[in-house]
Amino acid sequence: MGSTTEKQTPRGAGPGDLEAAFGRQLSLASRSVHADDHTNTHPAVAPPMHVSTTFRYPRNPDELVPWSEADPDAFEQTYIYSREKSPTVTRYETILTSVLGAPSIAYSSGLAAFHAMMVFLNPRRVAIAGGYHGCHGVLTILNKLNGLEKVDLEDPAALATLQPGDVIHVETPLNPTGEARDLAYYRRKADELGCWLTVDATFAPPPLMDPFALGADIVMHSGTKYFGGHSDMLSGVLAVHPAKAGLRTVPGRKGAGAGEEGKLTWVQQLREERLLLGNVMGNFEGWLGVRSLRTLELRVKRQSENAERLVAWLAGEKAKGEGVVAELVHKIQHSSLQPEAKEEGSWLRKQMPNGHGPVFALWLESEQVARRLPSKLRLFHHATSLGGVESLVEWRAMSDASVDRRLIRVSVGVEGWEDLKDDLLQGLVALKEELGR
Ligand SMILES: *Cc1c(COP(=O)(O)O)cnc(C)c1O
Repeated sequence: MGSTTEKQTPRGAGPGDLEAAFGRQLSLASRSVHADDHTNTHPAVAPPMHVSTTFRYPRNPDELVPWSEADPDAFEQTYIYSREKSPTVTRYETILTSVLGAPSIAYSSGLAAFHAMMVFLNPRRVAIAGGYHGCHGVLTILNKLNGLEKVDLEDPAALATLQPGDVIHVETPLNPTGEARDLAYYRRKADELGCWLTVDATFAPPPLMDPFALGADIVMHSGTKYFGGHSDMLSGVLAVHPAKAGLRTVPGRKGAGAGEEGKLTWVQQLREERLLLGNVMGNFEGWLGVRSLRTLELRVKRQSENAERLVAWLAGEKAKGEGVVAELVHKIQHSSLQPEAKEEGSWLRKQMPNGHGPVFALWLESEQVARRLPSKLRLFHHATSLGGVESLVEWRAMSDASVDRRLIRVSVGVEGWEDLKDDLLQGLVALKEELGR
């Protein structure tokens, strides 16, 4: 057995080394392909999938350091048991750390990540409004456990009742409409009130938005959506603002580095809590995540462009006041239609400089039309979820009781946008005929 395997400290050209060689930061596209190069221990170009749940300790007895005595920095280099961490998921996290520009940690699902974030920050109150219904469900469970209260994010008077240590949780763009919220505004509120700003950025992954540039403390993603991108894996991600990822005292723990007794970084603490909550990603999902992140930029750019074109076409048809779109579509919602999208220098332009999210909402003329339209489409699958290469529509009442029953959520995939346009058009025409209009 080679000493590299025994010591579990692979060496190679890391992203730092690569960037030093280029004298600048590599592009997002290059980082998503090469940020994990330094973890290669085998000449195979495609990454391995490690399925082991347990890892051999060093053979040399003098190198045995019990976990409770280990320096967390050194500990990061070793593998013990896959509920703590596993090499394939670490590889996925390494790429995410580079792509998101902040230390990142992966979970078994988006909701597992949201739950872990709330357990870690442990607020008394969370300001939140609308958005993904499952996050509200997690807060209801926490309310049962510790009385955690929800405060209406959109009501300035309610927001003012927050206390230091509470959380302002902003989902943007919002599920299910794809409309954006002003992160800079909520950062100012968080500063005034001494609160943490957490952002669910699932609907606008890189390169569309960087919530850290606007002061987010923790950014959360359902990696099930765009990081996975192929509707075949569950994943959640937390990324911690690099400047705020610093040391926090943990009673009874040896700390990171000399002289930092009892202190761990946020990510180290999140990892310790993840070890106990047990909400880790599976190895196969980690492997799929690595494969998928390679094409993140390609996919997301294409999906974003497709969505903007479709929305512009639909809005144009609607504005004509006649034709099947104008007749059957009551309203279209997407950040590209928000007034600030057209304003030079607006918060929205600054927040989403590289395009809008690939999800938008259509309000059909009636519940009946919304329920029937998905069955008329040939390219859009009728299914929940979003972010995959396949375009999806969902009569949203199917999975979210809190939204208007006329609403259809559209997740745009990587198909040719004109094919998607023609599919929507023929679907609306067929539906109109069926309804005898
Ligand atoms: C899907 C989703 C979640 C939950 O993620 P899972 O991976 O399904 O647990 C959270 N927030 C948003 C905005 C989502 O779209």
